[in-house]
Amino acid sequence: MALDWQTKLIQPAVSAPHGFYSLATPTFRGSTTILPSAADVADHWVQIQRPYRYGSYGTPTTLELGARIAEIEGAEHCFITPGGQAAIALIYLAFANAGTHVLVPDSVYGSSRELAQRHLKRLDIDVEFYDPLMGGAIQSLIRNNTRLIWCESPGSITMEIQDIPAITAVARRSGIVTALDNTYSAGVLFHAFSHGIDVSMQALTKYVGGHSDLCLGSVTVRQAELYRQLGDVHQLLGMYASPDDCSLALRGLQTMGVRLSHLEESALAIARFFSEQPEVHAVLHPALASCPGHAIWSRDFRGSTSVFSVVFTERISREAIVRFIQSLKMFKLGFGWGGVTSLVMRYDDLGRAASVPTERLVRFNVGLESVEDLIADLRAAWTALR
Ligand SMILES: *Cc1c(COP(=O)(O)O)cnc(C)c1O
Repeated sequence: MALDWQTKLIQPAVSAPHGFYSLATPTFRGSTTILPSAADVADHWVQIQRPYRYGSYGTPTTLELGARIAEIEGAEHCFITPGGQAAIALIYLAFANAGTHVLVPDSVYGSSRELAQRHLKRLDIDVEFYDPLMGGAIQSLIRNNTRLIWCESPGSITMEIQDIPAITAVARRSGIVTALDNTYSAGVLFHAFSHGIDVSMQALTKYVGGHSDLCLGSVTVRQAELYRQLGDVHQLLGMYASPDDCSLALRGLQTMGVRLSHLEESALAIARFFSEQPEVHAVLHPALASCPGHAIWSRDFRGSTSVFSVVFTERISREAIVRFIQSLKMFKLGFGWGGVTSLVMRYDDLGRAASVPTERLVRFNVGLESVEDLIADLRAAWTALR
């Protein structure tokens, strides 16, 4: 049958030859995927049984990224989400029902705190913030309706290292699901599952993406029951991730090892520079003894990464700190971390229960620039502090 040109535009008879085995995962875009059998039409997200029903449940590119993250974290299943914050929301909505109680560390990522305070409360989920350093004493906060315990280690901005094995041991005794924001460790420097965590999430936006050019998240689990609960919500909330972004994240994974090694070394050198300055009260870097929970970091972590905070002494005013940050040339003022560019950020109020000297705290993210140039930049700006 001779086809009209309009039809040929849509249904060609020709295609490129098969057999191009690239080292890169192809970027498969798509909403509709053609189903093989009319007898066998079913709409379900469960990809381990039948991988492809519809693009929103994942294309080969998204599923490969998920499989790679699960493999690296030592788990069975992984969902890719549009960002780290979406991964956090997915975990809440999969495990917390109206009338249940959830424990969240006071040092949690800011948008996670706001989600809890502004929207979960509205859904009658009772979120209680706990001291991130309380370890096994969290037992005293467990109620009959506690369903979920969040951990984040190190904590956002204030960098407290949590005793995850002690917390997960308490949770396990009461059948409570534990979730960890494992973004700092890129899923590799802290092994969530061997420390008793049930659900691990990351902002792939940070070290996996690694170049400040995408937003993605992951939620990883070992147990089939948790996978089922998460998958249902993942589908129905419409948490689809772009295959193009997933392709960039797959590329990011290939260089993450060398980036992390380099970033660890540079960040340590810069943290040590700060700890030698008389204007600095404390350096909150997990590998330094001045970081709360440092001993637990030494016990449980394989290394440190690019982000840490500096608390200046009481003699240094908020205005001096603003001037100092403004004088930096290499360290750009920006949210986020884990990319190739050095960043700096200050905060006025973290909204935490515990009092934090926020106005004297500055967070740094070290990038891949030469460490000598970065220290020279800090030295040049230092005069603004005096
Ligand atoms: C950045 C970040 C998130 C959120 O990730 P997005 O991809 O920006 O939504 C969550 N948790 C931590 C610890 C983060 O640093």
